[in-house]
Amino acid sequence: MSALYVHVPFCVRKCEYCDFYSEAAGERDIERYLDALEREFRLRHESLSPRTLFIGGGTPTRLSAAQLTRLGQTLRRHVDFARLSEFTVEINPGTLDERKAASLADMGVTRASFGVQSFDAGFLKQLGRVYEVGKAESAVGLARGAGIARISMDLMFALPGQTLEHLREDLRRALVLGSEHLSLYALTYEDDTPLTLALQRGEIEPCPEELEREMFSLAGQTCAASGLQRYEVSNFARPGAECVHNLAYWRQDNWRGYGAGAHGMVEGEISENAADHAAYARCLLEENRLPIVRRERLSPAQRAETLLLMGLRLSEGVELAKFERLSGSPFSAVCVESSRALARRGLLELGETHVRCTDEGLLVLDRVILELASELGAGVAR
Ligand code: SF4
Repeated sequence: MSALYVHVPFCVRKCEYCDFYSEAAGERDIERYLDALEREFRLRHESLSPRTLFIGGGTPTRLSAAQLTRLGQTLRRHVDFARLSEFTVEINPGTLDERKAASLADMGVTRASFGVQSFDAGFLKQLGRVYEVGKAESAVGLARGAGIARISMDLMFALPGQTLEHLREDLRRALVLGSEHLSLYALTYEDDTPLTLALQRGEIEPCPEELEREMFSLAGQTCAASGLQRYEVSNFARPGAECVHNLAYWRQDNWRGYGAGAHGMVEGEISENAADHAAYARCLLEENRLPIVRRERLSPAQRAETLLLMGLRLSEGVELAKFERLSGSPFSAVCVESSRALARRGLLELGETHVRCTDEGLLVLDRVILELASELGAGVAR
């Protein structure tokens, strides 16, 4: 098992665009959740010696400093840290203070992943983010001051009303802070979020497609000029600063997930916990059983399709040997026509060890995957 994920499903409030599993909750809910998490580790009784540990949310820093320390103690009791090379915590800058930063450092956190989204107060308000002007800068200072040296930031683009200049300024401010890693996500309108409803009512205008493409290119050029290379369609890093934890998902290595709504995948078997913190805690604390709502063994075709879906997002592409190991068939034998056609159109490159998307292919990634997957269905066991 290479990666361990722990989910903290609490947020101060729900952002306008968010459809992740997260909830605003009171102190008692959080304490009970931490009890339940401890019980999940005990009941699963797994031997955990991961290379990477990632606490995500939600907003892990919604927890108090004492609650973070408690979470750290649970992890120390059940996880062997000897092989650990990366320990990331997602941080909403608006929720970090000096005591929490110190708790995170004491837990052994090595990498702070800040959900900045934008430095512009107007866009933060539009997105419904918890923010104070200048808070991102001060939060990075707090993390560094506590000894957490590795900094990553998430930014969003294609926001209603956003221009190239706005994005250029966000990128400049993130890079000036010394981020070694940036994640840049285009805003997507998920079903039934307040932002989507505002769009449907005509209150906001979506970003034109052409502008979104220009923003995508601007992000790549600006990051490259600062020494951050695109290693995944939405992720940029200095060489050696890639997020090793997320690489496990994109490469479809094994990982385990703990907490409400978390899921894991070990050798093609998926297991998923109830995405409801109250049900999760009830199950563990009152019924003394695991809150698993789904267990499924993926077929060779499903594993191959997922590997393409995730792996083609990476600049390195999909390892051919891994494709064959997961699907039982060589890539060149099951995606013959589609891969040739995509290569002829300059969207796909077939190398000795990997198949990867070209830069043009990354722009139409969904289409590339669809074409490969439609041929895959006929060649690999379902
Ligand atoms: S902080 Fe993140 S998880 Fe929480 S509501 Fe906002 S986008 Fe969703």
